[in-house]
Amino acid sequence: NLILGIETSCDDTALGVVDSGGIVLSSVIASQIDIHSNFGGVVPELASRAHEAVIIEVLERVLKEAGLNAQSCGLDAIAVTKGPGLAGSLMVGVAVAKALSLGWRIPLIGVNHLEGHIFALSLEGRLMHFPMAVLVVSGGHTMIVRVNSLGSYEILGETLDDAAGEAFDKVARFMGLGFPGGPEIEKVATNGDPSAIRFPIAKVDRRFDFSFSGPKTAVVNYLRSNPGVSVEDVAASFQASIVETLVAKTMDAAISTNCVSIGLSGGVGANSLLRERLLAAGSVAGLEVVLPAKVNCTDNGAMIAQAGRFRLETFGADDYGLDVEASLRL
Ligand code: ATP
Ligand code: FE
Repeated sequence: NLILGIETSCDDTALGVVDSGGIVLSSVIASQIDIHSNFGGVVPELASRAHEAVIIEVLERVLKEAGLNAQSCGLDAIAVTKGPGLAGSLMVGVAVAKALSLGWRIPLIGVNHLEGHIFALSLEGRLMHFPMAVLVVSGGHTMIVRVNSLGSYEILGETLDDAAGEAFDKVARFMGLGFPGGPEIEKVATNGDPSAIRFPIAKVDRRFDFSFSGPKTAVVNYLRSNPGVSVEDVAASFQASIVETLVAKTMDAAISTNCVSIGLSGGVGANSLLRERLLAAGSVAGLEVVLPAKVNCTDNGAMIAQAGRFRLETFGADDYGLDVEASLRL
């Protein structure tokens, strides 16, 4: 039983085919980095056009790599991200999903992108033990979710301003590094001293909330007033301070709400230091830590297919009235 997942919420045209055991048969991602890097961020109008231009080619590739073809299809359902994200980008995925569902006469399922990130944790046959504290940390979101069981979510805390990925992107941009900034900062940080500079950690009223706007500005100000500083040290120190905050709050939330396991997902979840530190903290606390493969942390179609299977089996399919919801919440 195979499900195709379609993800076009932001700047990646990502499609994946997943079987009933959560095994990823194929996952193809067409990145728009080249288009948006000149602007230092995603340009919505260009993003939707680029999705439209490549999505059929990506579809053909993902089917081929899964051993399928467009004539006989061989799929059992189609899941598509309906939100949150850029409306114009989401519409491309949803329109294609509707057309394929109609043409192939298979069920259509709309998926919340954030629930997709959570379901990345169960790909490749990984088991999720509940209650689980999941840190969803990406370019648009930073939140700690208590997953009581599949489909039952409690947001324990979230960012009050910038997402962690956004802070990485903005600092990288100021440092003249490439876009997206997370992987660039991670690369530069390998040659730096993480204890060289002590960047401030933002205070928030609610213990599990985050704030990354202050720390981001602190780095920018530091760079301005110390023009000769080692960029490697700044990158390493900044990365370390973000990772420290993310890990400390996730552990605190997991332990104080009696979770039995911890999960990490979203683009920043591909950061090696974050993965290492969370694993180490989990082992000290005696809590299982589930880390999806790095490629399944960043936006991908497989996680949408995986969440779609759960939605289909639990609530049934959507009808063709399915619409995009740019500001959808978890
Ligand atoms: P959202 O899920 O909020 O819509 P998104 O769709 O922007 O986010 P994701 O692929 O989930 O996309 O996350 C992208 C973000 O992850 C970017 O901000 C990027 O800088 C960051 N990121 C990717 N890899 C790394 C890394 N190795 N280290 C730190 N940050 C990273
Ligand atoms: Fe995402």
